[in-house]
Amino acid sequence: MSHPYKTRTGGATVTVFVPYDCRNNCPFCVNKREYADCSGFSLPGIVQSIRTMDAITPRCDVVFTGGEPLADLASLQTMLDAVPATHKVYINTTFPLQSHADADEMLAFTERNREKITCMNISRHLQRYVEESPDEIIGRIACPTRINCVLYRHYPAQKLYEYVERFLPYGIPVQFRYDYTETTPENLYEEENDRILQDLRRLFTYRGLDGCRMRNGFHFSYKGLHLTYHKTLPYSTITETGPDGVTYDVLYDIIIKQNGEIHSDWDGTPLDLERYRRVTFEPYDLHVIDGTVAF
Ligand code: SF4
Repeated sequence: MSHPYKTRTGGATVTVFVPYDCRNNCPFCVNKREYADCSGFSLPGIVQSIRTMDAITPRCDVVFTGGEPLADLASLQTMLDAVPATHKVYINTTFPLQSHADADEMLAFTERNREKITCMNISRHLQRYVEESPDEIIGRIACPTRINCVLYRHYPAQKLYEYVERFLPYGIPVQFRYDYTETTPENLYEEENDRILQDLRRLFTYRGLDGCRMRNGFHFSYKGLHLTYHKTLPYSTITETGPDGVTYDVLYDIIIKQNGEIHSDWDGTPLDLERYRRVTFEPYDLHVIDGTVAF
């Protein structure tokens, strides 16, 4: 059954799946099968959908993910150019070693777009699944950066100190991530049986917690570096009856697929554009729950 949409002030985050692949096969990847067959992928279709979403929510966050956004710098530039400066823009990347675009070209891209890119989120996992460019290169990226690290299944906890020390010379904050396919409403805020949380509490200085219905972050510091442990639910819509007695589909993420289709969830549900044009806005429910998260 369809309900009227509700989302946070400014609009749900628009996540764009770039229309070209990475060359990796990370074991926890849920996107890879979408790139198995690239027929129907459409750069013009994506650009059109970016414009459509910009017209409805001109201040929402925009995320480029994949696949590998940096695998085709010209196409990424075309998509970035379609996003007006009113939006915050995030890029999820491995900052790969690739023969057709060397490190200098990728660094020049970050320099050219430094005013546009709010943050580049760079995957670096405890176990190496991809061909990584050297840390020294990551340290030279011109826009703000963050390291994303999925702590997957039987991760080697004894390597966590050494891992974080890697990024100290560059002052790049690290976000550890729970495998989100395993997250449920019951374990989102559960602490005692969360092995990752217990490991991080043992090794680093816990500072605080923020969160909302959909996701949260446990914040830590280590030698001045900001570390976060992030958990999020594996869907992007929560159906809920508001204080006005109306049942809403509360949207957190809107997805632009590789062919330009716009979805309201990760499971292929199409976004009803006319309904979204009439969306009800509520203040963002992300708030500090404990301690401090800004330091
Ligand atoms: S680099 Fe990213 S998109 Fe590619 S396999 Fe790994 S997680 Fe998936």
